[in-house]
Amino acid sequence: MTERIQRVMVVTAHPDDSEFGAGGTIARLVREGKRVSYCIVTNGNKGSSDRGMSPERLAAIREDEQRGAARVLGVETVDFLGFPDCEVENTRETRMAVTAAIRRHRPDLLIIQNPHRTKNLGASHRDHRTVAGIALDCVYPLARDHMAFPELLAQGLEPHKIKEVHMMWWSDPDLVVDITETMDLKLKALACHQSQFQDFAAVEKRVRERNAELGKAKGYAYAECFESIVIER
Ligand SMILES: [Zn+2]
Repeated sequence: MTERIQRVMVVTAHPDDSEFGAGGTIARLVREGKRVSYCIVTNGNKGSSDRGMSPERLAAIREDEQRGAARVLGVETVDFLGFPDCEVENTRETRMAVTAAIRRHRPDLLIIQNPHRTKNLGASHRDHRTVAGIALDCVYPLARDHMAFPELLAQGLEPHKIKEVHMMWWSDPDLVVDITETMDLKLKALACHQSQFQDFAAVEKRVRERNAELGKAKGYAYAECFESIVIER
């Protein structure tokens, strides 16, 4: 990654999405000296099959798990926007919340999920698509336009231009990141999300297989893939 990228922000729908889609890449960026922050849009309060679990308790557990995973990868800050799981909509309120996070952290690179529905139903969860759409609306024009959200300007959150966006992307991606050296860290970070896994060995197997598959074309043992949008060179 070049010198023009110094600050990176990862915007995802749920706790654990960043690690699944980009954990190895995030660990690499941190090793290269980039400053990485997380913005998690929902509180993940519906991700449980335990009938005795309350949404409030689950949200608290998942916040702790996400902070643990961020520590493993070297992510500096984690913002939780707190919108309810499975109910995120692209509204003025959600766009303003993500715009505020972007203006506060002022990233050069934004890593987000895929805004499109694909055949992979888990990866194209409606919150993932919706949050990716919100993030792109914030990249252009909301975060950079001083007339958008005058209330943010009043709080001292000045407009900000993002230089590049990487969308998590599995079919025919234009960016394949070699994560062979950071695969162990990715798995260690994923393992922090204990409430999400009954059998982590099975998850590890699935993640290793998928990241190995993504690396094949380039001859990498493990890779994560993205579609990139370069806005400013
Ligand atoms: Zn998710």
